Amino acid sequence: CFILGIESSCDDTAAAVINNGIVLSNVVATQKIHEEYGGVVPELASRAHQQNIVPVVHQALRKANIDKNDVSAIAFTRGPGLMGSLLVGTSFSKSFAMGLKIPLVDVDHMQAHILAHFIKVEGQTVPKFPFLAMTISGGHTQIVKVTDYFSMEVIGQTIDDAVGEAFDKAGKILGLPYPAGPLIDRYAKEGDPKRFKFPKPKVDPMDFSFSGLKTAVLYFVEREVAKDPDFISENIEDICASLQFTIVSYLMDKLKNAVKHTGIKEIAIGGGVSANSGIRNALILARQKYGWTTHIPKFEYCTDNAAMIAMVGELKFKKEMFATNEVTAKARMKF
Ligand code: ATP
Ligand code: FE
Repeated sequence: CFILGIESSCDDTAAAVINNGIVLSNVVATQKIHEEYGGVVPELASRAHQQNIVPVVHQALRKANIDKNDVSAIAFTRGPGLMGSLLVGTSFSKSFAMGLKIPLVDVDHMQAHILAHFIKVEGQTVPKFPFLAMTISGGHTQIVKVTDYFSMEVIGQTIDDAVGEAFDKAGKILGLPYPAGPLIDRYAKEGDPKRFKFPKPKVDPMDFSFSGLKTAVLYFVEREVAKDPDFISENIEDICASLQFTIVSYLMDKLKNAVKHTGIKEIAIGGGVSANSGIRNALILARQKYGWTTHIPKFEYCTDNAAMIAMVGELKFKKEMFATNEVTAKARMKF
């Protein structure tokens, strides 16, 4: 069966086709417009989704080398995300499925970041149940105990900002364009991670807090720039490396606590920040160091994409977990 997945929860319009866990196409149109504003502007995002959705879906079908009449079901992101953005994908998917007279499957975006691990990738094994999924993205930071495909429990989460937000906001303070996460990662590779010290906020063992880090970066930069106006440009690599080191070791501390609490050593990461080289390396090291089995998704399945939506779509399709045509977009969701 061919499942068409559609993702429009934030600022990426994406469509993908999957067949038995194998991705046949995975198209993403990233909206550039938000860079000028240093963050996603909801109204502009939903307008761009409206422009992109038809060509993106068309391209996904063409790349998969199938016709729209070959599609068995349409899976779409119901939430969580920006309401105006979600509405575009939701209404498009509902009408498309109705027109084609095929089932519609609603997908939770956060579940999809986790279930992306079941996409078949050569040379990679899928996680075994139960496993711990750490979802680290622009909007979320959570540790989830996954006992089955649709049986998940959040055991730790951020009490304020998401980790991706911490990267992006710290980057903004450093004058880097949005989204700063990938740039910080790039600079960090050239810098000394031990040069500057940033605080690790103290909260419950499996919870996260990042707003204090942002403030610490702000004060640190203000203080140093007052002494030397060129401080940032002269030390950008070391600042980024130190910042990334702090964030990555904080994430690893939380994972260690979760392993201790649950006794589960099967670990999977997901969400945009799992593209970060620091966390990827730390998880590879953890295999030897702590005897964990760690699953790190391919880059293109880390950040927002529709392949993960199609993957969940396929799992739900096989269980006949369909949505009715009354289904509505939902900005906030819990599982
Ligand atoms: P959510 O999935 O919670 O709705 P989102 O859709 O905004 O949030 P994703 O697309 O999953 O988030 O992730 C985007 C975030 O990932 C941004 O904050 C971005 O800076 C961050 N990011 C991407 N690549 C890297 C990297 N290499 N290092 C650090 N952060 C990164
Ligand atoms: Fe996401």
